[in-house]
Amino acid sequence: MGEFDLIARYFTRPARRAVLGVGDDCALLAPAPGMQLAVSSDMLVEGRHFFAGTDPERLGHKALAVNLSDLAACGARPLAFTLALALPRADEPWLAAFARGLLALADEHGCELIGGDTTQGPLNLCITVFGEVPPGQALLRNGARAGDDLWVSGTLGDARLALEALQGRIALPAGALAAARARLEAPTPRVALGQALRGIATSALDVSDGLLGDLGHILQASGVGAEVDADAASHLIAARALFTGDIATFDVELLRQCTLAGGDDYELAFTAPPARREAVAQAAQAAATPVARIGRIRAEPGLRLVDAQGCTIPGRYASFDHFGG
Ligand code: ADP
Ligand code: MG
Repeated sequence: MGEFDLIARYFTRPARRAVLGVGDDCALLAPAPGMQLAVSSDMLVEGRHFFAGTDPERLGHKALAVNLSDLAACGARPLAFTLALALPRADEPWLAAFARGLLALADEHGCELIGGDTTQGPLNLCITVFGEVPPGQALLRNGARAGDDLWVSGTLGDARLALEALQGRIALPAGALAAARARLEAPTPRVALGQALRGIATSALDVSDGLLGDLGHILQASGVGAEVDADAASHLIAARALFTGDIATFDVELLRQCTLAGGDDYELAFTAPPARREAVAQAAQAAATPVARIGRIRAEPGLRLVDAQGCTIPGRYASFDHFGG
């Protein structure tokens, strides 16, 4: 199968909202008048971001999910995306499954595939998403103020737990591994929550490299510090039963590594004034996405980790950094 048959069979669909989709030199988008265009790219490289042999349907889902997560973090509504794809070979069952996972998530969010590029090479997936947001309403990293609450959506740490198991450092019961692995391989972008938080959150980002490291970006951009309740954050791991009660399989240190520095969570971390707690709760409810308060923004720079009693926890929970030492 040639390049153009491959594109036609797996990645070409009639344009709906876009003026022109796949097939010409450019796609044409007609953003709603007066809206700002939100644009983001994320690349997934085999062996770096996912294991060789990863289920292609989940990979299709994840490639778009990590991009939609960036739109969510800005409070933007998804419109369309492009797909730049390097493939070692035209493996049709693989392509069919990949396209199924990719386009199912695209349809769920009304986000159209409008173009891309296809080449032979080591497996590499790069998506660029386009979204829209009312002028001045995008959620940015620089708006956190001393006194704001620190919130996080959904669950934290399960993806890292799965990674620890898949790389053989820990053993997980089969059911727990399947659940954690689903969080690693098929994350849920918090698109509805991001939009619901417009006008409420003072800052936001999506947690991709680990909570504390990513939070550091908000602190730096906003010129503030924060206090994070490690126990409140630890509570957000879905695989909680493995760490609690008489039959605890793993220790608190692993729990903290996963929830505070895990990576691949694709949850939203955001700040809002305490006076807006009710509004945050309503936004979460409208988006059918749980949120939890895990700390507060302080004027003093730096990140202080505390336990439920408010005592400082020593230790560093470094975030993932591709070029980090
Ligand atoms: P050009 O030579 O002008 O760069 P291509 O031959 O690479 O165009 O692609 C032909 C058409 O197919 C273009 O509309 C392009 O956007 C689209 N396309 C190529 N690869 C993909 C892909 N993986 N997914 C969706 N559309 C694609
Ligand atoms: Mg091209």
